Amino acid sequence: MKSRQCQPCTACCDGWVQIKVKGCEAYPGKPCPHSMGAGCDDYENRPIDPCHKFECAWVKKNSVLPINLKPDECGTLVIESILVWQGITVDLAVPVGREIPKKNLTQLMQLAEKNMRPLIYQQQDSKSKMLEKNPLTLAYGPPEFQQWVLENQAKGRALW
Ligand code: SF4
Ligand code: SF4
Repeated sequence: MKSRQCQPCTACCDGWVQIKVKGCEAYPGKPCPHSMGAGCDDYENRPIDPCHKFECAWVKKNSVLPINLKPDECGTLVIESILVWQGITVDLAVPVGREIPKKNLTQLMQLAEKNMRPLIYQQQDSKSKMLEKNPLTLAYGPPEFQQWVLENQAKGRALW
């Protein structure tokens, strides 16, 4: 089977997922300084971590995500195994844009149920015109999981 190709997607370089490249942070509203919007201006010298190493869930070999959920086309970037809750692997979906389009979020939720992997997903605050570095974080999964996420957020604890 032909492996999936990133091009022309640059969602992970464009700050939709928080990364640090050569000491420089990228996050929503602040792309990596080497991202030209259509590629990297220093591709030959890109660092191993995160540039070589990073793979979103869509591009991974034997990805469980359907072809239509390519980040630049579907408005969401999924990162597998962001954390483990009670021995269960949890995935993260961040918006490529302000929020994950509803039909694609529904598809991700259906996959989460099918694969029995709770989902954490993010969206920008609709009341804010700015892109927030840390978007609102929501949980989809068993009630105990949702409660656990809420409790950690209330205590100001990082989830991952
Ligand atoms: S978000 Fe995924 S498909 Fe897009 S460039 Fe990054 S690794 Fe490739
Ligand atoms: S250095 Fe290049 S490959 Fe790495 S995040 Fe920045 S734009 Fe992307």
